[in-house]
Amino acid sequence: MHLTGKHINYYHICHRKLWLFHSGISFQQTHANVADGTLLHETAYPQRAKRYREVQLDGIKIDFYDPQERVVHEIKRSNKLEHASIAQLQYYLRVLERHGIENPTGLLEYPKIRRTERVVLTDADRAAIEQWEAAIEQLVNLPSCPPVINKPFCKQCSYYEFCYVSEAGVELDLPPLSVAYL
Ligand code: SF4
Repeated sequence: MHLTGKHINYYHICHRKLWLFHSGISFQQTHANVADGTLLHETAYPQRAKRYREVQLDGIKIDFYDPQERVVHEIKRSNKLEHASIAQLQYYLRVLERHGIENPTGLLEYPKIRRTERVVLTDADRAAIEQWEAAIEQLVNLPSCPPVINKPFCKQCSYYEFCYVSEAGVELDLPPLSVAYL
């Protein structure tokens, strides 16, 4: 099974979300979020179209790859839940390695807060990625959806209503929203 970047990202955020995504169950994100993300990719670094390449390998799609420097650039709106973004980028690096690219590195970029984070792969990361892949394979083949996780960021998830609002429209109690979701 070829994994996508979202499989890796969601595995590190919520196993239920991973399962729902893999099962093809999706809900439209709010128009504002989608528009914001698209605009960010189009306008954050306008000079990129010429310098960098889009790469599609196995299940992954890298929007900005610098073949000369062997650097994957990943743009994110927010650095909340950064561990999942780092894992996603590390997975991209591992896929590149598997296709013969030596020592690729990554840059997580947050244009809204003018911050970048360098991401590399260690042997421990490579071993961890093997474990993620095995765990994801098991999770997505579960016969039923894993339980809700009751995290504050659930309110920003596209599955929020599916997970927490009953058919009668009654919302369950959640902890106060303290972090913005990706
Ligand atoms: S709303 Fe929360 S429990 Fe439901 S899929 Fe999203 S993150 Fe997981």
